Amino acid sequence: MTATEIRQAFLDFFVSKGHTIVPSAPIVIKNDPTLMFTNAGMNQFKDIFLGEAPAKATRVADTQRCLRVSGKHNDLEEVGIDTYHHTMFEMLGNWSFGDYFKKEAIAWSWELLTEVYKLPKDRLYVTYFEGDEKDGLEKDTETYNLWKQYVDEAHILPGNKKDNFWEMGETGPCGPCSEIHYDSRPDSERAEVSGATLVNADHDQVIEIWNNVFMQFNRLKGGALQSLPAKHVDTGMGFERLVRVLQGKTSNYDTDVFQPLIQFIAEKARTPYPAIWVESKDKVEVDEDSDVAMRVIADHIRAISFAIADGQLPSNNKAGYVIRRILRRAVRYQYQYLGFRDPFLNTLVPVLAEQFKGVFDNLYSQKDFVQKVILEEETAFLRTLGNGIARFNERIKLLTHLEAGQKATGFYESFEPNKINGAFAFELSDTYGFPIDLTELMARELGFSVDIEGYELALQEQKTRSRAAGTIDTQDWIILKDDETSIFTGYDETETIAHVVKYRKVTAKGKEQYQIVLDKTPFYAESGGQVGDKGELVFPDGTIILVTDTKKENGLTVHFVDNLPEDIEDALTAIVDPALRGQTNANHSATHLLHAAMKQVLGTHVNQKGSLVNDQYLRFDFSHFAKVTDEELAQIEAIVNQKVRQNIPLKEERSVLYAEAITSGVTALFGEKYGEYVRVITFEDEFSKELCGGTHVQATGQIGFFKIIAESAVAAGVRRIEAITGVAAEVYITNQSLLINQLKDLLKNPKDLPKSVESLLDENNKLKKEIEKSILEKSSGLKNELAQKAEAINGINFIAQKVALPNAEAIKNLAYQLKDIVSDLFLVLVADLDGKPSITVMIAENLVKEKGLHAGNIVKELAKEVKGGGGGQPFFATAGGSDVSGLDNVLVKAKSFVG
Ligand code: ATP
Ligand code: MG
Repeated sequence: MTATEIRQAFLDFFVSKGHTIVPSAPIVIKNDPTLMFTNAGMNQFKDIFLGEAPAKATRVADTQRCLRVSGKHNDLEEVGIDTYHHTMFEMLGNWSFGDYFKKEAIAWSWELLTEVYKLPKDRLYVTYFEGDEKDGLEKDTETYNLWKQYVDEAHILPGNKKDNFWEMGETGPCGPCSEIHYDSRPDSERAEVSGATLVNADHDQVIEIWNNVFMQFNRLKGGALQSLPAKHVDTGMGFERLVRVLQGKTSNYDTDVFQPLIQFIAEKARTPYPAIWVESKDKVEVDEDSDVAMRVIADHIRAISFAIADGQLPSNNKAGYVIRRILRRAVRYQYQYLGFRDPFLNTLVPVLAEQFKGVFDNLYSQKDFVQKVILEEETAFLRTLGNGIARFNERIKLLTHLEAGQKATGFYESFEPNKINGAFAFELSDTYGFPIDLTELMARELGFSVDIEGYELALQEQKTRSRAAGTIDTQDWIILKDDETSIFTGYDETETIAHVVKYRKVTAKGKEQYQIVLDKTPFYAESGGQVGDKGELVFPDGTIILVTDTKKENGLTVHFVDNLPEDIEDALTAIVDPALRGQTNANHSATHLLHAAMKQVLGTHVNQKGSLVNDQYLRFDFSHFAKVTDEELAQIEAIVNQKVRQNIPLKEERSVLYAEAITSGVTALFGEKYGEYVRVITFEDEFSKELCGGTHVQATGQIGFFKIIAESAVAAGVRRIEAITGVAAEVYITNQSLLINQLKDLLKNPKDLPKSVESLLDENNKLKKEIEKSILEKSSGLKNELAQKAEAINGINFIAQKVALPNAEAIKNLAYQLKDIVSDLFLVLVADLDGKPSITVMIAENLVKEKGLHAGNIVKELAKEVKGGGGGQPFFATAGGSDVSGLDNVLVKAKSFVG
């Protein structure tokens, strides 16, 4: 039987028993503070059970879309790992509202499973409630006796409150239940181990398929049970599990419910499902990451799609946040294990919608919208995910070092091995959009834990901060002209006569700004990496309004200004700042030349992953798996500058059919959406041809000169080049050469500059060593002198001296040397190190033991004389301070410790 037939057979069967078929309720619950999502078929009948609403029919049946990702029923962690828990699943159910009870429910479920679906009886097990003392509930012998009519006693098992007393949530309708389990293990295994021992034991092949709940109570807040006004039957059978059992599969994912999705994913990922692996003699059952990933994605897309179709958009709080987290979990799997770098999840929506046509039509009718929402979410999340994963791995590397015995110091002192600290977990969520459970999951996979308390604390702090920062207040548009189109003239001119179509006031962080839309504008609105234009709007009365930025909103060009003119309805001249635009053009055209040159030098795998073009510089991110070497960079620069000198004229085609452009070999960007008609920018047919909406130079000579100033990594497999052109490049080169001339002057114009710097460094090292040696000599001399001065007091050789050594290292050295030659030593050395007092205490180990002396405590006491502090071990300790005049007192006080 196909899944569709199996579902229909269920509904038909209960119609034949006098039931009315009702539609599924939405998966998203709106007006119930105790529940965010439908987690069982009975949710929509809660009021009927509680006696708060009348039942329209006393016998109903349906298939209900359910979601178990939060609250009492949360299976999220199991999904993809095991073979039978999903986030979203269909629950087939039949209900009696004060009509039939246990006898009929049990008889019919047995009839359906064994006579309609023809499941073998010896593979089925049933359970009944064993009672619970705390709740004052008795054993459900009635159910036991009913089952005995059909089922072998060895297949009727008692169950505890956890498994056999069903509750919707912390409060609400509940009652004892009777589950039906199915053992799908091969006969050989079944002969060895009885299925009865595996029921409710988390065995992958002995699973619960149906639960018959006998609703009798209402759980009140505080835990007490209250009898319901009438007795009801509420059953739930996992549709995907039933299909698996009937189709003879060992995993829900192998049925025709999931295979269309999984095979679609496998094809797009170019990875087979299940993964192919080489058999070896000690074969271990491992799940390939790609298999788990495909199951997770096939599962999650269902939850996400139905939640959105039922009106729950992903967002930053409550139910919306639950959906956003599931979505990000799926994206993270597709990114990390299936190699998808561009949005993918959303492309599953049409496949899913088709599959549920005629079952849950709400998805099919909104499939474009649902797909668009998912695409937007994915795009936003992907942008930061790559960077975040790189950051995470860096941190793990660092922590792994710690574990290997390296002592963390300074900034890293608060780090613990095997633990991601709260501040970092917060950074991942705040900057890179990692849900905390994603961080936990990634950490757990590597054997690390996450400091959740620290994370919560950081989160709380941020909430307090952002509340203080205030919100953006956008007022309604004030419309002056009904004409909604806004024509862009900026490809041809930088000055255009125009009218204001509409404007509005925006207040952010206490600052007022206005946004203006014109009927015609030469201002380029930020897009495709190129920043928005700046310039002026000049009104006839001479008023000049500065445009500080230009951005797109729903296809309209919005100009940002700080104030409005007196007469806003007058014709105005919109003038783009020509200098800024000119430099931006040069940087944009240079970006195209750079892209083409890189494909020549590095290979055609180089693809643009992002870019920024403004009047100052250009930034280009691209796919490439190694650092670009200095030679390669020089080669790339040479090609670009050659093209600049050739002064290649710009070829601009404004509306080329997308399909035609692609066949002509134009470079299109991944993850970018193009319309039917596109704009093609060409600099020499054979060299650079790109789909682009930006502004450019008229000929490459206007770029002047191209210079790369940095090359770095952005994320795994993505590198970044930063470069400058024109005057900026000229200034850069001039400064570099000035710098070199300065160095040459300082070194008296050597023939070979690097060589003379090298010998300077050598000489410096030599001198350093000599100084160190002479200090050592000096302290050795002091050693003997001080040893002479030892004073015997109470069996202690006491030395307290001020010494003239240049640094703490030298003093420490001296102390250790003295310890070697003077027995029973109690040593206090003080010094004035460039105006800072220094105290060192050294005590022979035998004195520490015998007399209980502690250098660390003593030095703390002594440091008070110099207004300072310090500490250390029992035999050696040091202190500093701020008052050198107290050093003599230190020496006096020192004696009190031995006297
Ligand atoms: P399990 O112990 O397997 O998690 P459950 O006791 O939580 O199941 P019920 O709350 O009784 O299940 O739900 C009724 C039926 O719904 C189950 O018998 C099962 O067939 C199905 N079901 C429950 N949870 C899931 C899930 N996460 N995915 C798919 N089907 C499920
Ligand atoms: Mg469960």
